[in-house]
Amino acid sequence: MAENSLSSRLQMAMRRLTGKGYLNENDIDEMMREVRLSLLEADVNFKVVKTFIANIKEQAVGEKILKGLNPGQQVVKIVHDELKRVMGQDAEGIRYNINGITTIMTIGLQGSGKTTAIGKLGAYIRKAEKKKVMFIAADVYRPAAIEQLNTIGKQIDIEVFEQGLIDARDIVKNGLKYARENDYDVVIIDTAGRLHIDEKMMQELIDVKQIAQPNEILLTVDAMTGQDAANIAKSFHEQLNATGAILTKLDGDTRGGAALSIKEVSGIPIKFASSGEKMDSFEMFHPERMASRILG
Ligand code: GDP
Repeated sequence: MAENSLSSRLQMAMRRLTGKGYLNENDIDEMMREVRLSLLEADVNFKVVKTFIANIKEQAVGEKILKGLNPGQQVVKIVHDELKRVMGQDAEGIRYNINGITTIMTIGLQGSGKTTAIGKLGAYIRKAEKKKVMFIAADVYRPAAIEQLNTIGKQIDIEVFEQGLIDARDIVKNGLKYARENDYDVVIIDTAGRLHIDEKMMQELIDVKQIAQPNEILLTVDAMTGQDAANIAKSFHEQLNATGAILTKLDGDTRGGAALSIKEVSGIPIKFASSGEKMDSFEMFHPERMASRILG
């Protein structure tokens, strides 16, 4: 664990309280200062930090734990529960269409791990739900993107519907027709990613959403980008109303800033966690586990 990681900083702050039989309000304040610092250093959005601290302090003082048994541990529990609340309480899976094809549209900036996540999500759904999955290659701005999806499709034996670099809207229409004719259960659509959000990309995504009427719109966000991930999520959400986020590259993130900021800043619940380049390193996002990981 890195010395200045959120978990080690929080642990240090907590350690000062454990073993103490009595806490006064100054102890709590001192502790909250440490928690605030460690959250800011973990690149958590400052508004999220403010609410977080206010909620913990209210509970810590309100529950009159100052004189209780093991007050330090009680504060740790309050922090743990608040971490969990901020990240969305319970894991949420895919909402499948019970009569007909389930369509999942993926969105995200270039480099956020979208293509890799599509592969993992496809393999995950096939394994967990025993469903027949197909991909549609509708990121038509970079030939390399289609190539990459094809490579992943071959690797995990999932069919990729592609028509080269024609209009993404047509590819999606044709791909969905093909999926219906070939009895697919789940279709995952890859869409255009850019380095930054721009109007043309957004309009295309809005059009694709209109055509596909997806059951889920999943946004890939790179955990390594900290609170920026939350701001990007907010911009996408305002235009497209995403139903969930896939937090990628968690293997590289020791700080937790993205996980803690996304839901509060953008309103998008994190549904999945992706943590590595192997196709099976993908799971439902469990706020409980993430809270424990952050606390160490
Ligand atoms: P896209 O441009 O959004 O489609 O992103 P890619 O799926 O191509 O991923 C961008 C880069 O990040 C590639 O080099 C991937 O191998 C890498 N990558 C994707 N997901 C993960 C992950 O969970 N962990 C790590 N360490 N690298 C990842």
